Amino acid sequence: MTRHVLAVLARPSVEAPGGNGPAWSFAEPESAQLSVLDLGATRGDGIFESISVGNGRLQALEHHLRRFAHSAAMLELPTPDLETWRSAIIATVAELAPQGEAFVKTVMTRGIEYGDRPTGWIYASLSPDFTRERTEGLAVVLLDRGLRHDVERTSPWLLAGAKTLSYAVNRAAVREAARRGAEDVIFVSSDGIVLEGPTSTVVYRRDGALFSPGTGLGILDGTTQANVFRWAQSRGITTAYELTTPETLRAADAVWLVSSVRLAAPVRAIDGESVAVDGEFTVAMNAWLGAVTE
Ligand code: PLP
Repeated sequence: MTRHVLAVLARPSVEAPGGNGPAWSFAEPESAQLSVLDLGATRGDGIFESISVGNGRLQALEHHLRRFAHSAAMLELPTPDLETWRSAIIATVAELAPQGEAFVKTVMTRGIEYGDRPTGWIYASLSPDFTRERTEGLAVVLLDRGLRHDVERTSPWLLAGAKTLSYAVNRAAVREAARRGAEDVIFVSSDGIVLEGPTSTVVYRRDGALFSPGTGLGILDGTTQANVFRWAQSRGITTAYELTTPETLRAADAVWLVSSVRLAAPVRAIDGESVAVDGEFTVAMNAWLGAVTE
């Protein structure tokens, strides 16, 4: 069975010079495709999305495409040609024809230095098994992100809230968590507001209602969190966004880190203090997230 599929975009952006050839084509995932001069590789100058595929169906595709275009705008990259991306993503998943859970990654870089177009590709593969994270939960630590919660407004050049390829800091934070005996991180702003995980959105429950920190805080507009709220609303559960402090989080009766691919992982400890895991609620949430087609 094919385990990886790669598509390369000849026309990743609306500004890219056209030609007579196809706007995208499949390529050999095991052979070299990227120039050593690509700014995505040399500067981390680009954007990406990771999209869940459940039962062969793309989840939150339109939300991911909107966020991809938003990230491009924040980085002042050429505008992604979303029609080309959409049709290439759909074809890539069809080619992979996954049986179980899978994911698609879309990447657009600023291209080769002094070149005339961005570089774009789509990669699809089967997902790792996240059963342990979804059932046993994650021990997390709160780490200072070193930016205020209003950074998006005051300092847009820091690109907080864009899904850029520069994830070295996010990876370093997870290594710091491991040094402290934990498995994941919740970032807190320098002025004490709960932000997000390095690859996830924070969702928590208090008095039966679900909360999340919301956007405008220099954090990503999470597609999984949006779907968790849709699921909750379909069950008559109240949902709301609020400014969250570490104290609010510690007082919550359950906390999750939610993201594409891993879906909802309950938090079982924050800075070494136990947090209750609601297994039944998490299973129901993940069953819905895994089956959703929007
Ligand atoms: N925040 C960050 C920094 C992320 O990298 C991600 C996903 O990778 C998320 C939040 C969750 O977003 P989504 O649910 O759309 O995957």
